[in-house]
Amino acid sequence: MIIVMEPTATREQINVVVKNLENKGFRIILNEGDVMTVIAAIGDKRLVEPQSLASYEGVQNIKLIQEPYKLASRTAQQHDTIIEFDNGVKIGGNDKPVLMVGPCSVEEDYDGLLRVAEAAKEAGVYFLRGGAFKPRTSPYDFQGLEERGLKYLAKAREATGLLVVTELMDASEMDMVCHYTDVIQIGARNMQNFKLLKAVGKCGKPVILKRGAAAEVREFLLAAEHIMANGNEKVILCERGIKGIDSTFTRNTLDIAAIPVIKKYSHLPVIADPSHGTGRRYLIEPMSKAALVAGAHGLMVEVHHDPDNASSDGAQSLSIEMFKKYAENINRLIGRIDYDNHHIEAKV
Ligand code: PEP
Ligand code: MN
Repeated sequence: MIIVMEPTATREQINVVVKNLENKGFRIILNEGDVMTVIAAIGDKRLVEPQSLASYEGVQNIKLIQEPYKLASRTAQQHDTIIEFDNGVKIGGNDKPVLMVGPCSVEEDYDGLLRVAEAAKEAGVYFLRGGAFKPRTSPYDFQGLEERGLKYLAKAREATGLLVVTELMDASEMDMVCHYTDVIQIGARNMQNFKLLKAVGKCGKPVILKRGAAAEVREFLLAAEHIMANGNEKVILCERGIKGIDSTFTRNTLDIAAIPVIKKYSHLPVIADPSHGTGRRYLIEPMSKAALVAGAHGLMVEVHHDPDNASSDGAQSLSIEMFKKYAENINRLIGRIDYDNHHIEAKV
């Protein structure tokens, strides 16, 4: 349930409503905006008569939320969440989409990572991605450099000024990962690792939550809700493809429709990952364009200095040369989309 207070509501009037709901067992999350305060009450709504609350002084209106995700829901917050970084970079709303690029795994060849980071910076990219803890389907595949990989990422950040995105697999490593990164990634395989979601809910860094390969949009939003309900509202949702019926030509099926669906039902930023979404490097550019036209706030793309010899996901990674051409084409498309009205100029 959402209680929207009048812009003129006093602190006392807000407290009366909050106390009443707390006494009935509701958990309260206060959203104190510049203009008005919105109270999100999480609990069993059968325990309260909404009409009786509506008559409290200072209450403007009450919305009963049908969606099980409350904090992530558009009903709870109509305006888009925009996540802003210390250097002024923003993700969400009508801001221009951002690119996040880098190798699937951080590898021993630091110079290779640096070359990718420098090419990214040159193309106007703000984020460098790379996994140091790798969730691999096979235990015999490369598992990641762990802290050494995090150090390489931090070194590349120092050299280029790019913000770093890396995956956290285990809550026990959260402090270490947070120490080196700007954005924490929760991978598709951990989308419903509720202890991990709870842990990142308690850290202050923005989180990219990737959609599970077999997760419905509702489950995806509920996973975001776990992070938000534990105190971290800086969640970026990432559509990275779901299991389809045919993996002959594509590794996963990038669910483009999920992008506008999520934007309709949630205020959180949503990005797309056409590398994992397709598994094929030749599909990265067309699917990136499709995702942007569908309204994605950003793209996460794997780029490697030597994709054919990458430790993981080489087939879905662009080489540096391919990336340069890709970035040029994507930047051109981004320049042609009117983000306030979300339409593309007809002219090529
Ligand atoms: C990755 O980003 O390299 C990754 C493992 O992604 P996902 O969790 O989407 O498979
Ligand atoms: Mn990968």
